[in-house]
Amino acid sequence: MENCLFCKIMNGEIPSQKVYENEFVYAFRDINPQAPVHILVIPKKHIASLDEADAASDRELAECLRAIRVIAAQENLTGGYRVVSNCGPDACQSVHHLHFHILGGRQMEDKMA
Ligand code: IMP
Repeated sequence: MENCLFCKIMNGEIPSQKVYENEFVYAFRDINPQAPVHILVIPKKHIASLDEADAASDRELAECLRAIRVIAAQENLTGGYRVVSNCGPDACQSVHHLHFHILGGRQMEDKMA
């Protein structure tokens, strides 16, 4: 989609530190990491948020979740990791292309803000 930051990253118009890619998914390191490992996993198809993901997006969602497991293994996150998807203004979603944050490499707090 035109003017979407993550579409531009996925298309290579904006540089990124790619960690994984397949037909459906692109994953890259967050520019402002909140943990030693902070990776964003996005579907290549432009979907604004989880709220916008209808049945036609089931394959993309499944592929994102599958990619998260592959990336966690690739990054050696043997102690565990957290997956977050901010959806809408109350969750402070700032980029309106569905993405899953993978956070790992440190002990997370036991409550979510
Ligand atoms: P959100 O707040 O859940 O929408 O997350 C958006 C994320 O995108 C934030 O963690 C930002 O640090 C990250 N981000 C914004 N611009 C870039 C970029 O150009 N490259 C990589 N990550 C980015």
